[in-house]
Amino acid sequence: MTDVNTGHMTIDRSEAAALALDAQPDPASRRALFRIPAAQSGAHPQVAYFAGNSLGLQPRATREELLADLDDWADLAVHGHVESARPWLPYHAELTEPAARLVGALPSEVVVMNSLTVNLHLLMASFYRPTPQRHRIVVEDHCFSSDSYAVRSQAAFHGFDPDTAVLRLRPRPGEDTLRTEDVLHVLGDEGASIALVLLGGVNYLTGEFMDIPAITRAGHAAGAMVGWDLAHAAGNVVLRLHEWDVDFAAWCSYKYLNSGPGSLAGAFIHERHVTNRSIPRLEGWWSTREATRFAMAPVSDPPPTADSWAMSNPPIFAMGPVRTSLAIFDEVGMEALRTRSLALSDYLWGLLEPLATAGALRIVTPREHDRRGTQISVRVPGDAAELTDRLRVNWEVIADERKPDIVRLAPAALYCTYHDCWRAADAMARELVGTPITEVCA
Ligand SMILES: *Cc1c(COP(=O)(O)O)cnc(C)c1O
Repeated sequence: MTDVNTGHMTIDRSEAAALALDAQPDPASRRALFRIPAAQSGAHPQVAYFAGNSLGLQPRATREELLADLDDWADLAVHGHVESARPWLPYHAELTEPAARLVGALPSEVVVMNSLTVNLHLLMASFYRPTPQRHRIVVEDHCFSSDSYAVRSQAAFHGFDPDTAVLRLRPRPGEDTLRTEDVLHVLGDEGASIALVLLGGVNYLTGEFMDIPAITRAGHAAGAMVGWDLAHAAGNVVLRLHEWDVDFAAWCSYKYLNSGPGSLAGAFIHERHVTNRSIPRLEGWWSTREATRFAMAPVSDPPPTADSWAMSNPPIFAMGPVRTSLAIFDEVGMEALRTRSLALSDYLWGLLEPLATAGALRIVTPREHDRRGTQISVRVPGDAAELTDRLRVNWEVIADERKPDIVRLAPAALYCTYHDCWRAADAMARELVGTPITEVCA
């Protein structure tokens, strides 16, 4: 990872400067491929959308894809499994390679299936194998609620008290994010009791990008399994899960991956586990090799791939949108996308900085490139929900809030523009200090 500190840059805060930046061609900008919601009123035809970390926008190709799958069902019915233009039986396998490229995995290590929390549970069924001496699970204290519920229920499922079995990592007093050195210390000191480390690759709240290779190494040195929730990392940062020796990971595809509300999730299982038949798994008919799926045998015959963690025949109407979305990521490539995302978020950061200096907000996301994705989280005085409402109603800027005081702004690099960033900063300035962004005195 690069260690680029963008320093205290002074940037041109005029709207013209934002438009000039957008006028420079950038091959990673694919705005034309997306449906950008129309503004209801005001000076701009479209909203400035910063909630792609929560629900990504719809690629234009998705609708046609979905309609084609619906037509195949209508026209071919049961024969669509093998006779449609994109047959349903092997459909999920088409997603494997692009999903593997997205997270830096071998195709044999990835399967697209289920939802995120479901996948976390299925992976914990294999990789959380607690004993009385070693049964603790490490999470961030400020992890997403679903992850907390998942690990607590896993501990309880195995007969342990979740209050003591789950070890929650807290930032130092007065700080908002974790320090890698502190995480490594905990793993060193408490290692003998830890069965599983399960952290967010990019934290949903603070936007902090964890040092996945260093923490994975330390977890392994402590004798623990190390899994990552990549809900906010997939499609946001460059990942090398295979090379980093991650045991397992899961991610959803409705955030940065733009595959639609509640869409399918991904799962990664490292090659060395995939080929290890002694690891227990929960199985269904899709855990068995394609060649033996219709043998209707009492005993499964799993392939040496992550597919052996799949269970059910997949929802085809949910897979089309994942396919169209992953095709865009494949075309652009995560490296180029990350370059654009850092340029956009540095620019947004530079615009927000005078507001921070003026005391109107506090940026909680770490600034260094290797410690964050595209999201910038800020703490604001008063009620963040009320502020995001005003950003939307008064300025057509779509951000989201996490109670009580965090506003999250994520310039998704595929479709957000410099001008969107300018609109967001200008709206924040007008709402927080009552002046345009060009006139905020730092
Ligand atoms: C979005 C998100 C979830 C949501 O879980 P689902 O199972 O997809 O509903 C869980 N964990 C994290 C860290 C998330 O960001």
